[in-house]
Amino acid sequence: MTALLGRVLGRDGAVYRVAAPEGEVRAVVSGALKRAHEESREGARDREAPKVVVGDVVRLEPEPGGELFRIAGVEPRRSLLERRTPEGRGTRPVAANVDQVVVVAATVDPAPVPQLFDRLLVLAEADSLPAIVIVNKVDLDPGTALAERMRRAGYEVFGTSARTGEGLDALADRLHRRTSVVTGPSGVGKSSLLNAIEPGLRLRTGEISAKLRRGKQTTVSAVMIPLAQGGFLLDTPGFSEVGLWDVVPRELASCFPEMRPLISRCRYADCRHLAEPGCAVRDAVDRGEVAADRYESYRALLGEAVSQQSAWE
Ligand code: GDP
Ligand code: ZN
Repeated sequence: MTALLGRVLGRDGAVYRVAAPEGEVRAVVSGALKRAHEESREGARDREAPKVVVGDVVRLEPEPGGELFRIAGVEPRRSLLERRTPEGRGTRPVAANVDQVVVVAATVDPAPVPQLFDRLLVLAEADSLPAIVIVNKVDLDPGTALAERMRRAGYEVFGTSARTGEGLDALADRLHRRTSVVTGPSGVGKSSLLNAIEPGLRLRTGEISAKLRRGKQTTVSAVMIPLAQGGFLLDTPGFSEVGLWDVVPRELASCFPEMRPLISRCRYADCRHLAEPGCAVRDAVDRGEVAADRYESYRALLGEAVSQQSAWE
């Protein structure tokens, strides 16, 4: 018998909603997998049995005589979005198999805050997830400076208007067949863009989802929203609503793509790229090869990452 595979869409308590070839099914983790997970956590096993999270591809078995399926195993993951728990030193898996982070800004109304933007991009880089940039509301203002700033930093930029439809085909093409986290400040047009691309979503403006999570659930967890032409949107507060405690200060510069190739050229291996002599990052800023305001973001985020880390230790 070939294994039946499904993709975990969401979770209500112990019951997972899973997209299976014949449609959506409900499933619980098998006793054997649960035990294997406990044992691997206690270090009793060398082979890891992961906890099932949203986005996982799971092996399903029919539960004899029941309407629920059993999750018998988890397929290897392409990526894992993890967050350190604020209470302890452990990490909490949030979602698996995410392909990209889509960071949305508006050209105006609200005015873009580049530092907020850089912060979301750093979080994506820290999770080793590729990020793309949407500059929306190009009907109100072309947003050339913002788009140019992000292109120079190494990001692919899509100029869009949810109002006129400009750039939506290219964006839709980029979302289909992939699992994407869409993030950005409120009011920039995330719901409007997603509704325009996927009319069936009917997200209220100002609300990217909350759609599937109203009701009895008290703890808000990640939810996958299937797209008609393939692919998923992953709605998770676990992405942006975190501090920088997940980012090790030493690794922050490598979360800025344009600084990454310079780091190895600094005189000191532990260079923080602040006032150290022979710093290749600062030299590049002085020569105008790295944008001064991206470097300012680096300094601000470094301060934050350092203070949050010492709050830990
Ligand atoms: P969200 O909070 O990021 O989900 O933003 P919304 O989709 O709720 O949009 C906020 C406001 O901006 C709404 O009044 C939208 O109608 C408007 N809006 C969204 N996209 C565009 C756009 O491309 N052009 C213009 N002019 N307005 C837009
Ligand atoms: Zn340096």
